[in-house]
Order: sequence, then C-alpha cells, then structure tokens
Amino acid sequence: MAASSKSGPTPMMEQYLVLKAQAAGCLLFYRMGDFFELFFDDARTAASVLDIALTSRGEHDGKPVPMCGVPVHSAEGYLARLIKAGQRVAIAEQVETPEEAKQRGGSKALVKRDIVRFVTAGTLTEEALLNPGTSNRLVALAEVRGTIGIAACDISTGEMVLEETASETLDAVLARLDASEVVVPEGWEASGLPEAECRPARDFSSDAGEERLKTLHGLATLDGLGDFSRAMLAAAGGLIAYLDHAGRGTLPLLLPPKVRLGGSELAMDGATRASLEITAAQDGSRAGSLLACIDRCSTGAGARLLAEDLSAPLAEREAITARLSLVKHFHRDPLLRTDIRTLLRGLPDLGRALGRIVAGRGSPRDLGQIRDGLAQASRIDELLTGSKDRPALLGDLLAKLRGHEALIDLLTRALVATPPTERGSGNYIADAFDEELDELRSAAGNARKAIAAMEARYREETGVTALKIKHNNVLGYFIEVPAKHSDTLMSADSGFTHRQTMAGAVRFNSLTLHEEAGRITEAGARALSLEERHFAALTDAVSDAREAVAAAAAALARIDVAAGLAERAVEGDWCQPEIDSEPVLEIEDGRHPVVEAALAKANERFVANDCNLSESDRLWLIGGPNMGGKSTFLRQNALIVLLAQAGSFVPAKAARIGIADRLFSRVGAADNLARGRSTFMVEMVETAAILSQATRRSFVILDEVGRGTSTYDGMALAWAVVEAVHETLRCRCLFATHYHELSRLAETCDSLSLHHVRAREWKGELVLLHELARGAADKSYGLAVARLAGVPSPVVARAKAVLAKLEKGRAETGGLAAGLGELPLFAAASAQAEVSEPRDTLADRLAELDIDALSPREALDLLYALKKEAAQTNS
Ligand code: ADP
Repeated sequence: MAASSKSGPTPMMEQYLVLKAQAAGCLLFYRMGDFFELFFDDARTAASVLDIALTSRGEHDGKPVPMCGVPVHSAEGYLARLIKAGQRVAIAEQVETPEEAKQRGGSKALVKRDIVRFVTAGTLTEEALLNPGTSNRLVALAEVRGTIGIAACDISTGEMVLEETASETLDAVLARLDASEVVVPEGWEASGLPEAECRPARDFSSDAGEERLKTLHGLATLDGLGDFSRAMLAAAGGLIAYLDHAGRGTLPLLLPPKVRLGGSELAMDGATRASLEITAAQDGSRAGSLLACIDRCSTGAGARLLAEDLSAPLAEREAITARLSLVKHFHRDPLLRTDIRTLLRGLPDLGRALGRIVAGRGSPRDLGQIRDGLAQASRIDELLTGSKDRPALLGDLLAKLRGHEALIDLLTRALVATPPTERGSGNYIADAFDEELDELRSAAGNARKAIAAMEARYREETGVTALKIKHNNVLGYFIEVPAKHSDTLMSADSGFTHRQTMAGAVRFNSLTLHEEAGRITEAGARALSLEERHFAALTDAVSDAREAVAAAAAALARIDVAAGLAERAVEGDWCQPEIDSEPVLEIEDGRHPVVEAALAKANERFVANDCNLSESDRLWLIGGPNMGGKSTFLRQNALIVLLAQAGSFVPAKAARIGIADRLFSRVGAADNLARGRSTFMVEMVETAAILSQATRRSFVILDEVGRGTSTYDGMALAWAVVEAVHETLRCRCLFATHYHELSRLAETCDSLSLHHVRAREWKGELVLLHELARGAADKSYGLAVARLAGVPSPVVARAKAVLAKLEKGRAETGGLAAGLGELPLFAAASAQAEVSEPRDTLADRLAELDIDALSPREALDLLYALKKEAAQTNS
C-alpha cells in the first residue's frame, strides 16, 4: 500500500477501503500481482491464525499499515485454515490487466479490482477445502406463520432438500443436518444460533423463493418438482439469494430440490445423537463413532451417503427392506462384492467434479473425472446387470448409470488421457479432435523442428560446436555461445544481433530464429484460445447433462453404501434384521459394534446379550454393578434399531425389529457444564423432552436417569419417570439404574420386567460377567468395584463397616423405599395431582427439603414422618 500523503489516502488505499466496506464481516484478500494481501486488523487476524509474518506497508493516518500476504498459487491451503478457524473471506481480484488500465486511464491508472467471491464454510467446492467423506451443508431458515422452513444444500454436489418443522423441533432438525453454515433473515431470534449469518429479510419471501426456483430450473411452475409449502419456498429463496451473493452473481450447482416429509424418518434429537455417538464421538471426532466403525465404503460419495443414512434412518418398511435387499445382494455373493468394490475404488468423485464445473470453477481435470466416472459407471452397470436375482432397487439404480454414451464419447475424443488442473498452458485437448488445433500444433512443431535444424546449421556455419539455441520465458528463443567464441558472432556481417552478455556466455538473435520463434508464439496463442473455446463448450455439455450425471453419482453412492455394509456384515458376522410393523424388539445375541471392535483390539471377547421387548413386556429395568455393562447393553440395542432402519445388517445372530418412529437416548448427569446449565438441569430438560414427545412406537433408553441429584430426589424422579413411561407413553424402553428400590415397581407395573448384569465375587475379587440375566440385582457391588478401581484397602474396609451399619438400619426400617408400595398407582396419582390444587403438602415439603444438609439419621427420621403423613393423607 503506497504511503498516503497528508492530503488523504492514496488511490489504492481508497480502492481498498471501498472493497473492505463491501466485505463486512469477512477478511479481505486483496490481489496484488502474485499475492493476496491483507491489511489492518485482517492482517493481524490472518497472521495469527496462519502463523505467517506480519509486516507493514506504507502509512495510513500517520501510522504504519499492518500487512501480511499469501501467494495466489497456494491460497487454497491458507483459505482452508482460515475457514476452519471460523473466518469468512472475500476475494478481491484484479478485473482488468495493467495494460487495460493504462489504456483506460493513462500510465498511473490503478488496476480495477472487484470482489469476485465470498468464501464461507458452506459455499466451498474446492477439492482441497473439502473432506471427501463428509457432506458440507449450507442451511437457510425462514418462518412463515409459525412454521419454520428449512432449505439445506451441499453445493459441492448440488443436492438440495426442503423441509419444515415447528420451532420446538428445530434443534433436532439442525442436529441432524449438522450444517457448516446457517443463514437466517435479519431479526431472527438469534439466541440458539449465535453463529448464523443474517441476510436481508426480503430475500426470504416465499414469492421470491418460488420465482428463484422457477428461474433456476427453467420452469413455468414448480408443481412437477413436489409439494412445497410457503415456509419451504421462503427458506429456498433465502438460500439461493445467499448463494447468489456469495458467488457474486454466479450460482453454483443446484439440483431440483427434494421435499423431506416428516414421519418418513426415525426422529432423533441432538442429545440422542450425541449420546449414541452416531457420526461423531463425544470428543467431536469421527474416530470412535458408529459411522467410523461401520464405514467400509470405497468412495467419498459413499461415505457421505452412509453418514446421511445414519443421521436420518428410515421409518417406512418398504424403503427399509429395499435397502436391506440390496445389501443382501452383495452379502450373499462374495465374488460380486469384491469385483464391485474394486470397480468403485477406481471411481472419481463425479458429484463434486460436477459441482465445480457448474459453479464455473472446473478444470480440465474435472472434465476428465466426469469422463472417467461415467465410463466406470457403465462398467459397473455391466457387471451388476449380469448378476442373478437382482433386487428391484438395484434395477432402478442401474438405469441411472446408462445413457451417458454421447457425453463419454465427446469427452473421450476431446480430452487427453490425464488432463491438467490448470488451463493456463493448454495441451488438454486431445490430438485429432479439432483439425485447426492440430494444424496450429503442427505449425508450432514444425517451427520447433526448424529451430533444431537451425542450431545444427549455425554450428556448422560458425564452427562453434558449443553453440546452442535455448528458450526462456523472458527472452524467448535465443542463440547462446561461450564467451570465448562470441567474437565470431559479434562481427557486423555475421547475421547475428547481440542480446545479452552473461558471465561466461553471450546471447544472440537472428532474423530467421526470430521468424520461427514468432510462428511458435502465434500458433501457441491461437491454440490456447481454441482450447479455451473447447473447454467452455465441454463445460456447457456437462452442465446440460447435470441432472443425469448427478443421478448417476447418487446411484453409485447408494451401490457403494450397500456393498460396504455387506462387507462390514460379513466381517462382523452380522445378520439381516427382519422388519416388523408391530412394536417389538427381539434381538438374539446382540453386540455393540464399537465396544466389540475396541475389545477385539485388546484381544478380549464381547459377551453377546439378548433383548426381547413386546407389548406385554415393554419396559426392562436393568440393575447390577457399575461397569457391569448396562450402558453398553442399552446402547447396543438402540444402535441395532438405528442400523436396521438405516438399511444395514445388524450385529446380532437374529433380529426382529418393529419400526420405531422416534429414538431417545439419555444418560443421567452427563458432564455438560459447557452449555451453562448444571448437569442435573440438563438431565431433566432432556428427560422432559422424552416425556412430552415419545409415542407408543418410540424406543427409549434411559441410563441412570436421576443420578445427578441426591439419593432421595434422584430415586423419586427415576421412580416417577419409569411409571410415566410404563403407564402413559407405553413405548419400548430399557432403563438402567443402580437404585435397587426401583425393582419394587415390578409389583405394580405389569409390562415391566427386572433384569441385571451378572457379576460374581471370586476369591474376594469382583468378576464382571457382562451377561444379562432375568431378575433383580442381588446387591450393588459398589465396594467391590471400588477395590477393582484401586481404592486403597483401608478405605474400602472402612466403607464396608459403614455399609454394614447402613444395611442393618435398612433391614430394620424397610429402607429408603419403605412405604413406596403404598403409593397409589401412577395414573391415579397423576390424575389426582392435576385436580388437587393447591398441591399437596407432602410434595411441597419434599421440594423445600435440602437433602444434602441432612445426616443419615435425620433423613431416616424424616422418612418416618413423611410416611406417617402420607398414610394419613391417603386414608
Ligand atoms: P455400566 O453402564 O454398567 O457401568 P458399561 O456398559 O459402561 O457399564 O460397561 C463398562 C465396560 O465393560 C465397557 O467399557 C466394556 O469394556 C465392558 N463391557 C460392557 N459390556 C460388555 C460386554 N457385553 N462384553 C464384554 N465387555 C463389556
């Protein structure tokens, strides 16, 4: 940045400041020659994120201007790091050449610059900036009369999905979509979405959205695409307007939107997703997740689809069984599976190459990938068409792999075998594609030959055997001789003109060389512009076929997912689940895939367990020692349901799965202080969501709910939650608890049964068998677990003495749950609670109680008193 004079900023600074004002909220990459430069605070931020040198250039307002820069040719890597760090970047390019600037405004004219693109997390298409196995979603939200419309797209492949939801379930939808970037209209209730990008509200009108979709797809009406609600259209409008803004008028690939209907999928909220570690483990990484454990896909597109399948499992029998039949097709035929997976491994990422081409960011290499991908698709079609007993879904998919012959043929004739990523030096259009290009190339070739012949002739004529004709980018072609021979060529009538004297060598030109070199340059320039024209035509041809190419890419991804799941099923000895519409869950020898894999690494065996839930036995209360395997059992069953509904085989010997509409997983007192609520508050908020949303068709796992508070509260809540699930929700539920007292619920709840994970004390040591058995747990083994964990023996001995005392007290008084048997049934009690206002004094007294302040003795006394009171109230 040139120094500013006292009278004001320099023209360049003025230009910079105007562009910077257009790039609010973004770092401005300002193109200067071969660098993108950043100034002021942008430079400070970028230098610290990228760990590059912060320098300064000139002055502004009397102070040095901080500056840093990145080379244009390696800008992608720097962009990737900035975007990852949560930054947004505006790219200001030179939009005219220095020559054009001079012609326009004289020798001092400043080259015009303009922002050509905003680079944000949700608008990436570059291979280097994207993870091959992960979708990159941009989501826009809009509200129309209380309904929230959601438009989600992955512009790297052009997929676009519209849906709507109520505000209470928005969090769950956003958790499923796992967006890289969210766009909302200005004034949106920002509390839950602090990172969202606000855009003008007028972009989010449903009329504008409808118009934008029609224009985008060249349609007079949207009726043929699906039934879009006003809220969906409004969100779609906001999304397209944002992409238009980010691309400065160039829209990326957007395929016709699909509508996602509520009810066709297994609903899960954010807490369930996190607790089941479906696509990411608790620490946020893919490693350790269900996805990482089952992903055997051969392509990035397959891995992306698998992640999507697991994030949104199906809830319709027909769709689930269609996917399962496809997996079975590859499962039963090992040769076919090996062959298909080999072919898939050689497949380029068709969808993403298409995305770059349509967005105007494609390269000759991308065109080559479309050619190779489609050609590979026909080989895959051939292989699979020949396979026996093809399921119906496979037939539909194979149809998408056909009919691309014309495009394959065009690209095959037009492109060289391995086209480059850069267009600058041409040579990507194949010989024999265009006669004119061939002629230009042969003219240049002849000139090059002529130059080679010239070299031999000059050597002979001058007698200088060390004479050479060379080429560099500055001088073009020149004749070079060692300094000691230069006199021969220096003489006035030699026909050579002097160009440059180097240390030890002298360079010359000759008229003939100049002419031949001119031919090469001219032919080269014309050839380059011809290749550019072909590139544009090929790009158009691919863009015209965008929907068919995208459909082929999607079909290949589906085939890859099925072949990968079949591979995983064989590897883990998994079975094909039977899908039922009744709310049952019958699993024989079920296993937890992630825990099993972790144990296998340590050469340990996973103990398989059955689960058997039905209308008449739908709630299993599971006790047993800590570390006994309760959580693992709960989760393995939830994962089996999820896998089955995603269309996968499951880790079990046999499984019959009644389709669930919602899946809930809760873990008591998860350590979630980061969200600013106490752990117990989180536990209760999450439990409340289940109690209000679960239906008879849902499947719920509750792990130690009530653990996050004192014993009395916790047990009371656990008790009430079990009753509510049993009496009101009537859904399938596995409930793990360490409260022995809850086993008394079996007396009143007839569809509840008691189970425990087995353990044995052997020679004073605790042996955890990880085996599930019917009946209540006999004792808690807490002290044995403590010993196992290495708690020093004097402490364990002391705890033993205390326990003996406590247990004696319990035997004498009936224990913590004494009197609970006399409680009215849940249904009666809740009806009573609703009518009896003001609330009963017992509840009030419990609510006011500071349990932590009580000694065991006081607690016991209080229980006696409460029991007496309760008996009086009920009589
Ligand atoms: P709990 O919930 O009862 O405290 P977990 O389910 O967390 O116990 O299991 C504790 C550990 O025991 C697990 O990390 C795993 O290593 C092991 N484990 C659990 N279930 C099994 C099983 N079925 N077979 C083998 N090991 C298991």
